[in-house]
Amino acid sequence: MTYDYDLFVIGAGSGGLASSKRAASYGAKVAIAENDLVGGTCVIRGCVPKKLMVYASTFSHLYEDAVGYGWSPVESSFDWEKLITTVDTEVRRLSKLHISFLEKAGVELISGYAKFIDPHTVEVGDKKFTAAKILIAVGGEARRVPIPGIEHAITSREIFLQKEQPKRLAIWGGGYIGVEFACIMNGLGSKVSQIIRSELILKDFDTDIRTNVQEGMINHGIEILTESSINHIEKTPEGLKLTLSGTSEGTLIVDALLCATGRLPNLEKLALENAGVEIDKGSIAVTKDSRTSQPHIFAVGDCSNRINLTPIAIAEGRAFADTQFGHNPKAINYENVPSAVFSQPEAGTVGLTESQARAKFGDSIKCYTAKFRPMFHALTGADEKTFVKLIVETNTDRVLGVHMVGKDAGEIIQGMAIAVNMGATKKDFDATIGIHPSTAEEFVTLR
Ligand code: FAD
Repeated sequence: MTYDYDLFVIGAGSGGLASSKRAASYGAKVAIAENDLVGGTCVIRGCVPKKLMVYASTFSHLYEDAVGYGWSPVESSFDWEKLITTVDTEVRRLSKLHISFLEKAGVELISGYAKFIDPHTVEVGDKKFTAAKILIAVGGEARRVPIPGIEHAITSREIFLQKEQPKRLAIWGGGYIGVEFACIMNGLGSKVSQIIRSELILKDFDTDIRTNVQEGMINHGIEILTESSINHIEKTPEGLKLTLSGTSEGTLIVDALLCATGRLPNLEKLALENAGVEIDKGSIAVTKDSRTSQPHIFAVGDCSNRINLTPIAIAEGRAFADTQFGHNPKAINYENVPSAVFSQPEAGTVGLTESQARAKFGDSIKCYTAKFRPMFHALTGADEKTFVKLIVETNTDRVLGVHMVGKDAGEIIQGMAIAVNMGATKKDFDATIGIHPSTAEEFVTLR
């Protein structure tokens, strides 16, 4: 049987782009279908535009901090429309760049929504394409909790498209996306109320990270409504009226509600049943090598719901292409995957949390922590704290986890992740000379 392509990729996001180019580099005939802007969540409506908005939101604090360093107070105003427009221009520039990378790699781009006709055939618009192997890399979309009035809520997708800045913003959900947007919008001057289910934001992170980021956010003026939920949303002349339950029972009037209550894979209209691809708890079920229940169909990235981060989708996509087309079997190590929360204060983390370490190693765990005012704030007068933490297994002296809250935590933890992955011990950390004066040197001087 001959097919139109050796590989047909559905979705030109982080995973799809990486795998299609890598497979083509081995000489495979590859096509990729995309029904939106090429680039996917990360480039178009996730990591990239979000980080640009993070940068935008930090200036308001910097203007205040500068006064302590002798600068006269800055009279400044913020233009939301300008920011949204320039971010959109940058995102579209990057999308075009990714299209040129596909062209250079010899990958054929097919615009439109792809769905399965049978296990080897995909339909896009009125055209059908056959392929020996198919990779599903369709990513996910924000989940909206089905409560009355939810159609009035926006998600992280729409926040980048708001014509006007919501001056009173409620954010529903305590995950990293909700936390990051709470800080962004607060920094840009909105009054932010974040509604979370438990006592602390950032479930699954080390408790010290959760506590320190939350304290920092409250310190910056963000209202965090803990152990609360939303039962009802109503559009009124004064704004959106949210009816809250739990500790904050009552009503809250806002200009917009950003629903950040989790994400679900984009599988609804793919017609996976025509391909014999099984779903497990809403995601595509895959083996370690990203193979679905149909042996020639694979899935990578958020739609397979392993660790939903861009570098993971890229690594899974490349490992798939190396294994299937490069005769070079590769597997991903899902341990010690570092990540950051681009909140203010920022958080970075790699390895086990203290509770995970205690569950695994019992009492043979020692934690080293420090909390201090970073030197930058010695002259600003701001009540800002940096927090660092090492989790060490005492029998082996191995560092199991490194966590940080404070400026540049993401940048600093990236380097720490190499050490943790190499099996560094506390002695190795201690034997390393610090860079002075810096925040990162705290990690090699903890006692
Ligand atoms: P995606 O990048 O979502 O790509 C899937 C593509 O498939 C999309 O372009 C979609 O349009 C297309 N598609 C879907 N169905 C079809 C179909 N049937 N036919 C054709 N095309 C289809 N991760 C980080 O590592 N760091 C961050 O700072 C970070 N910030 C984030 C901020 C936000 C607001 C969000 C929402 C996510 C963030 N992420 C971050 C997560 C990251 O964006 C995802 O993990 C990553 O994009 C997943 O890549 P993917 O290839 O699986 O899917």
